[in-house]
Amino acid sequence: MLSSIKGRLALWFFLIFSVIFSSFGLFLYHNLEKVLIGSVDGHLHSEVQLIAGLIRAEKAEHEAELSEAAVGEYGRPLSGHYYQLSAGDGTIIALSPSLSIVGTSLPIPKTSKIPQYSSVIGPDKGPMRLLIQTFDLPSGELTIQAGESLEETNFLLKRFKKIIALILPAYFFISITGLIFITRLSLKRIDLFANKIETITEKSLGERVDEISLEKELKPLAASFNTMMGHIEESFEKQRRFLADASHDLKTPQSIIKSYCDVTLSKARSGDEYIEALDTIRQNVEKMTGLTNRILKVSELDSDALIFHREDLNLAEIAAKAIKTMEAKASRNNISLKISGDSKLMLNGDKARLTEMFSNLIDNAVKYNKHNGSIDIKLSHQDNEAVVSVKDSGIGISSEKINMIFDRFYRTDESRGVTEGSGLGLSIVKAIIERHGGRIEVKSEPGKGSSFIVYLPAS
Ligand code: ADP
Repeated sequence: MLSSIKGRLALWFFLIFSVIFSSFGLFLYHNLEKVLIGSVDGHLHSEVQLIAGLIRAEKAEHEAELSEAAVGEYGRPLSGHYYQLSAGDGTIIALSPSLSIVGTSLPIPKTSKIPQYSSVIGPDKGPMRLLIQTFDLPSGELTIQAGESLEETNFLLKRFKKIIALILPAYFFISITGLIFITRLSLKRIDLFANKIETITEKSLGERVDEISLEKELKPLAASFNTMMGHIEESFEKQRRFLADASHDLKTPQSIIKSYCDVTLSKARSGDEYIEALDTIRQNVEKMTGLTNRILKVSELDSDALIFHREDLNLAEIAAKAIKTMEAKASRNNISLKISGDSKLMLNGDKARLTEMFSNLIDNAVKYNKHNGSIDIKLSHQDNEAVVSVKDSGIGISSEKINMIFDRFYRTDESRGVTEGSGLGLSIVKAIIERHGGRIEVKSEPGKGSSFIVYLPAS
């Protein structure tokens, strides 16, 4: 029961309403009791004052005179209203007819100038409210006791209790039934929502839950679900495109190898011809191996399971190492390679991956540069970041293409004409930077060159 929202709501409702209803019932009962007892006390006080006034004014000392003079119920026998007058020495001076008729009297009390109210057992063995007050009269001390049976008050209170005991559970029952009904109705919408989600498969990732027709409370849930579906769809689409592009790029060297084999094997060839064919085959196998390695690297970087071996590193040393591997290629095109800036720039990162990042950026700066061009690598420290910029004087990238160069397999038309490539280098660079908690920016001017600026959290 507690695992369902309906059950939990009903239980909470039951607990809260039980506490509220019982407190409310108790509050009403106590206040009614207070009002009723207060009213009895008021009667008793008036009666005592009336009797004291009579005695003072008329010096009435006989029961008959008093019972005639005392108004209303107090003058009648068996009315449940009593009074008794006693002198300072304890002698009873007068009794109400309700006491004298049954030949009983009230116990002689201690004298008290202040009115003393109490609930006691009356002469009829029932509950009674009693007021005792002593007056100083010219004839001496006079203690007046006035009592009133609480039978009627108790009867009223009992009735009230019964009414409360009937009304509150009925009200509670009606409310809880209503609550269960409303909860069921509201949760039905969640069931419909769940049914809709169940119909979405990998073939219908474009489907969305209709947020507008849902209740206000379910709208944020539907919006989050739709956003999540958007991300999943995008990631599925990226994977599909990645697979298609990878197969397409692997097909070209495969076709070249196949046609070389077919042509070479179609008849007997000279030794030189075999060497040329095998050389072409080797070049294309190398191309395929390079591409396969890059594809593997991209999917490796995509996986959360990939472990980065982090250590404190000097970024200038890593850059210098990467430059060394590129020097021969750069000098073939007469491109100058220069490194400047903070030679003690420290960073906590994965040495192999950061070297790969530098190599890819410098490789591009060489590949897309002009003959006699230049490459400037600058290392600096900005706030808490290590900043590395790789600037070249190459072909540049037009502004509308800048946002696409980090997409997998993307190559600009200009670069296709310049050199071969896989279109995976920059997506590897970006993934490495992001896994180090950094970011990359590009500034470029077609025909003048590009700057790739890397920001990494410094040690
Ligand atoms: P690849 O260099 O193998 O084609 P990359 O992912 O490294 O793949 O780069 C993607 C594309 O971005 C390149 O094909 C090229 O069009 C463009 N590009 C990258 N670096 C530069 C650069 N330094 N100058 C001009 N264009 C660049």
